[in-house]
Amino acid sequence: MGSSPVVSTSKWLLVEFRFVEQLRLAGFVEESIVDGPGVRFVIFVQGCPHRCVGCHNPRTLDFNGGKLVSVDYLFDLISKNPLLDGVTFSGGEPFWQSAPCCCLTKKIHRIGLSVMVYTGYIFEDLLTDGKDSSPERLGFIKNVDILVDGPFKIREKSLDLKFKGSRNQRIIDVRRSLDKRETIVVG
Ligand code: SF4
Repeated sequence: MGSSPVVSTSKWLLVEFRFVEQLRLAGFVEESIVDGPGVRFVIFVQGCPHRCVGCHNPRTLDFNGGKLVSVDYLFDLISKNPLLDGVTFSGGEPFWQSAPCCCLTKKIHRIGLSVMVYTGYIFEDLLTDGKDSSPERLGFIKNVDILVDGPFKIREKSLDLKFKGSRNQRIIDVRRSLDKRETIVVG
């Protein structure tokens, strides 16, 4: 029988701290008017498991690509821009980095900005105890105002859609949905 690796509690705490405080990013845009309502800071996370045919951003798929950026660095940029109405998380798949996204969204709400997130997951799956749910994901989604959910489906693609790429995707008011315990689709 082989021996188990011995890792001190403090080392595990350090690993967890680094995980929460950094995001692996493909990049960010400091001001956008096409990624949600108003003027928005857009964060493109790196890494996505969905592999949609016709993905609009294939360079964000590799989980080892991009680079690590601290939550504090991003929040500093966001908080210094008085023109922003909110922050949009795109990707990649933001719910694969739920812990640092949750940490950043809490800070964003404290300064009065809204949070919009694009995900390839289905909203209800993120909320339940099913395969796509976890405590980190539940913590993150509770800090989301607007969610655009579902994978991109090339057969349902339309250039006429506002803030989404294919007809199957839904724009969801997460706050009202959680309050009313039903999915409120607004677009
Ligand atoms: S969820 Fe988005 S980033 Fe991921 S494969 Fe689909 S279109 Fe690409």
